[in-house]
Order: sequence, then C-alpha cells, then structure tokens
Amino acid sequence: MKASKSPAGLSLDTLAVHAGQPPDPASGAVMTPIVLASTFAQRAPGEHAGFEYGRSGNPTRNALEACVAALEGARHGFAFASGLGASSTVLTLLRSGEHVVCGDDVYGGTFRLMDKVMAPLGIRSTRVDMSDPARVREAITKDTKLIWLETPTNPMLKIFDVEAIARIGREAGALTLVDNTFATPVLQRPLDLGADLALHSATKYLNGHSDVVGGVIATNNEAFAERLRFQQNALGAVPSPFDCYMVLRGLKTLHLRVGRSCSSARVIAERLAKTPGVSKVYYPGLENHVGHTIAKRQMKDFGAMISFVVDGGLPRARAFLASLEIFACAESLGGVESLAEHPAIMTHASVPPENRQALGIDDGLVRLSIGVESLDDVWSDIARALAAKPI
Ligand code: PLP
Repeated sequence: MKASKSPAGLSLDTLAVHAGQPPDPASGAVMTPIVLASTFAQRAPGEHAGFEYGRSGNPTRNALEACVAALEGARHGFAFASGLGASSTVLTLLRSGEHVVCGDDVYGGTFRLMDKVMAPLGIRSTRVDMSDPARVREAITKDTKLIWLETPTNPMLKIFDVEAIARIGREAGALTLVDNTFATPVLQRPLDLGADLALHSATKYLNGHSDVVGGVIATNNEAFAERLRFQQNALGAVPSPFDCYMVLRGLKTLHLRVGRSCSSARVIAERLAKTPGVSKVYYPGLENHVGHTIAKRQMKDFGAMISFVVDGGLPRARAFLASLEIFACAESLGGVESLAEHPAIMTHASVPPENRQALGIDDGLVRLSIGVESLDDVWSDIARALAAKPI
C-alpha cells in the first residue's frame, strides 16, 4: 500500500500514532490521559484553561478530534457519541425546506434518519445512484444544500467519483459529505478529493476492536466548522472521555489493521469469484467491478468489505452464516475479527423492501468484513460454510 503524506510531511502512519497526542505535559505520560471530570475549575468567573464543562469540551476528546483531523487532512475534527450522532448533528444544520441529494446505497440507519426523522421536519432527500455523477446534477434543486454519499457503498460496494460529485456540489453551492467509514483515511481522503466533510462511524475501523460506539467528522470549511462546534455542544451527542481514549488507542494501529485486512480481502474476493454456487461478488478490487477504475484512482487499496450472492437464496445464506466458525454472524464491521451478516434481515432491514430489491440486496446477499486473522483460516471457514446444506 502506498503511504500518504500530510501537508507537514508526516505520513499517515506516523500521524495515526502521534497526532494530537504529545506526551502529557503534567506527567510525561506517553498515552493521552482519560480526563473524566465533567467540570473544570475557573481561576475567576470566565477565566479558564480552555475547558469549562465536559459536554462543551474535554481534553481526551480534543486529542481524538485533533488526531482524526490530521488523518483526514483537515483543520477541524469533531467527535460524537455514534456515527448517527455525527450524522444527525450535521443534518440539523439544515432548515425546513432545504434538500439533500443522498446516495442510493447508504447505511440503513442513515436512510432511516433522513426518511423518518429529517423528512417530517421538512428536510427532504432524494436518493440517487451516483455511479453516474450526471444524475447528481439532475437531482439538485434550488434548495439543495448537501450532497451525501458513501463510497464504497454499504452493502453493494458501489464506487462513486468523489472528485466529480464534489465539483458538481461546488457549482451548485452545496456541500459534499463523504461517509468514509468503509474506506478510512488510510485508503481514501475525501477532503483531498474536493469534498467538504468526511464523516465516520468510529465504531468501525477507526476504533477497530468492536468495543466502542462513536462517530467523527473532519472538515476544512471554517464557517461550517464553527456551526458544527456550536451544534455539537447544543445537541450534546458527545462521546465519553473513556470512549475517546479507546478510539485514540485503536487509531494507533489503523494503518496496520486496514493494510492487513485489505490484503486478505483481495484474495478472498478473487477466490469467491471462482467458487461454484457463488453467483456474484461485489468487491471494487476485482477488475470486472464497474467502479474498479475510479476506485483505483481515488483509493490506495480496495477495502476489506466484500458482498456476495449465494445461489439458492435465503436457505443457503442462512446455512452459510450458521456454519461459520471463525466469523461471527453479527452487524457492524471494521474490527480485528471477521464478521458476516445478512443485509436484508440485519443492517438494511430499515430500507423498504422495494428499495432493497432495486439495489440488489436480495435474500442470497451476504456481507463480509474481513479481519486480521490468518488468511488461510478465514478462507477455510468460508469454504466450509459455503458447502453447508441449505436450512
Ligand atoms: N455509516 C456507515 C457506513 C455505517 O456502516 C454505520 C453503522 O453501521 C453508520 C454510519 C452509523 O454509525 P453508528 O452505528 O456508529 O451510529
């Protein structure tokens, strides 16, 4: 994997370990302390050392926000109690009557947030397959303020051209937000590609150990950063200092984990594509993937998420998931452990059946998140489970 450099010349691998985390000035501790205090003493009313109240600011959260910003090549980072906490905080900056152009294949919870929470408040969204950026331009109205996309998408692993879409957004006076959860800044830096905001469910690769729920946003847009800082405090969906510490700790090995998972995923996708009984494999690293050329241009590697369709629909998908021994059948992704799930029943159950059908999320579709275990062991597990009798 090629290394990416920050403007200051430090590579992402170094920033992941150090950014925002100098040794603690009070003790020399090389790990950022977890500051649990909910309030901070003031020398005199209004005279404080940068912190007043734990919701408004916290030293451990500041370190996480600085580290995430550095990794995404941003000046500003914001941490939230979940990925959806980050998403809802951004969306509440829109006003009734304003409009979002949203990718057609986003996380089911993002769809639910737009459809069931924001739409009743008058913030409308239009879902678009952004594989052809011209469709984004067609969907923009005079009220469009935000373009929201995931790439690779969840769970169909479609690839959208961030540079082209962000250009369309700029021309229309709309901001472009990329949910970078699947790629991570190790593989793709949306702000370098022209996007205004990079958002993550930190629950996934950033933390990487399946033991924190969190979200982050990075941006270089000064005006939006100011509004977001206000909204973060006003809405209050902030993470605990302990969770911030855990994500910081996870970030230190982000590049190692992502590199290892990607190299296994590439081999697994190639093998699945040659396996009888597997009718389709969705993985942007495969040369026959429609987004392969764009993925090669905008990503450093192709990620560690694979979706595939087993012949025989739900009974075979159920048998596969029930027979796995190393993989856990579980929602979520991006941890050190390999996970498998059934999007139609699990992560994307909140997407209406007709939308699922149109996207190709059918009963035979299985999604894999490849962890850092031995490739041989993980592949043996998949091969064994694929041979299981339908149930
Ligand atoms: N974005 C993506 C791509 C996701 O997969 C998820 C959750 O699975 C979210 C956002 C929401 O994040 P969280 O579950 O941390 O609220």
